[in-house]
Amino acid sequence: MRTTEICVIGAGPAGLCAAIAARRAGAQVTCVDSGDRPGGQLVKQTHKFFGSRGQFAGKRGMDIARILAAQIENDPMVDLMLESTVIGIYDDGAMGIEHEDSLTFIKPACMVCATGASERMLAFPGNDLPGVYGAGAVQTLMNVYGVRPGKSVLMVGAGNIGLIVSYQLLQAGVEVAAVVEAMPEVGGYDVHARKIRRAGVPILTSHTVKAVHGARTVEAACVWALGSDFQPIPGTERAFQVDTVCLAVGLAPLADLLWQAGCKMAYIPELGGHVAIRDEDYRTSRPDIYVAGDLAGIEEASSAMIEGTIAGIAAARSLGHSTRDSEEMLATARAQLDALRAGPKGEKVRKGIDRLMRLGREVGVVA
Ligand SMILES: Cc1cc2nc3c(=O)[nH]c(=O)nc-3n(C[C@H](O)[C@H](O)[C@H](O)COP(=O)(O)OP(=O)(O)OC[C@H]3O[C@@H](n4cnc5c(N)ncnc54)[C@H](O)[C@@H]3O)c2cc1C
Repeated sequence: MRTTEICVIGAGPAGLCAAIAARRAGAQVTCVDSGDRPGGQLVKQTHKFFGSRGQFAGKRGMDIARILAAQIENDPMVDLMLESTVIGIYDDGAMGIEHEDSLTFIKPACMVCATGASERMLAFPGNDLPGVYGAGAVQTLMNVYGVRPGKSVLMVGAGNIGLIVSYQLLQAGVEVAAVVEAMPEVGGYDVHARKIRRAGVPILTSHTVKAVHGARTVEAACVWALGSDFQPIPGTERAFQVDTVCLAVGLAPLADLLWQAGCKMAYIPELGGHVAIRDEDYRTSRPDIYVAGDLAGIEEASSAMIEGTIAGIAAARSLGHSTRDSEEMLATARAQLDALRAGPKGEKVRKGIDRLMRLGREVGVVA
């Protein structure tokens, strides 16, 4: 069985930053990703990122992926394994990796899990018809493979993802019939909502999908209004002749490996669902497993990069690797994360982390 000092699972912004930081601290790193290129969600983000200047705000996501990947791609101390999926983390610390129909095992001294998130679905009649997509799939089709998902789309969800993907659909020449949002207000940034409205797309707040119809694929979608109690109001139905329905209704941490590894988990709605109980170094109840990015709580790429840096340095330090440079990086990263989460926009995440830390103290994960 192969060995490595630190295995990073996932080469999205969190995993890449964990690998870069652990390497800077002097550790030997293996970074495994099931995709065919490093970058995770970033590879399909054609828009310029918001976030913080230290984390490349103003650059396109796909360019950020290239900048980060370039820092490890030709480093002899980093083994980047692409098209390789971690299928299990076992009690003895070994992990199984599936690559080209064969299974290999690696035993790292320590691992940073940064597997990101999965998209949430909505339950409504017709949600299994071809033509009903998650927003991530629509982005992959358009921005990675250059394929339009359809001719006319109903977008469900007016958070940043729903708004950004709507705009990208318009840029690709696809009609966006409407954006529907169950909440009474648009959740995404105003700047994105204004762009959509200027293009003539109505944003229907306090509305949801009632059903999607079609013989073999999507032919129409019916939406209806929601009252202040979030119950649908009969008689308010509106039909849209669309061939695609795109769901952008939130993300949940992709935590299967952590459950299997026996990490202590907690349900924290403010962080998107079940997350590992971890300390300020992002170390879980299993001392050899650290977490970072959307897996540790749904936020954004900026926080994912900073968390990856913290987890990478902390993991390397636990193996005795530490340099003045890496300790400075760690201090800077902690300050950047506090600044990013300050203010009203960070309130929800701060609340979730407070609960997680309290639970961590109760179960002895946080000192
Ligand atoms: C439409 C859209 C727009 C966005 N816009 C912004 C923005 O403007 N600014 C911003 O800051 N953020 C934005 N975000 C959010 C940002 O993309 C995510 O928060 C960020 O990518 C999370 O990083 P991550 O590394 O945790 O996960 P991901 O980027 O999802 O990376 C996880 C990686 O893990 C790999 N993986 C998963 N499971 C396994 C396994 N078992 N084995 C091997 N590999 C595995 C995946 O292939 C993937 O490459 C946007 C997101 C979307 C969807």
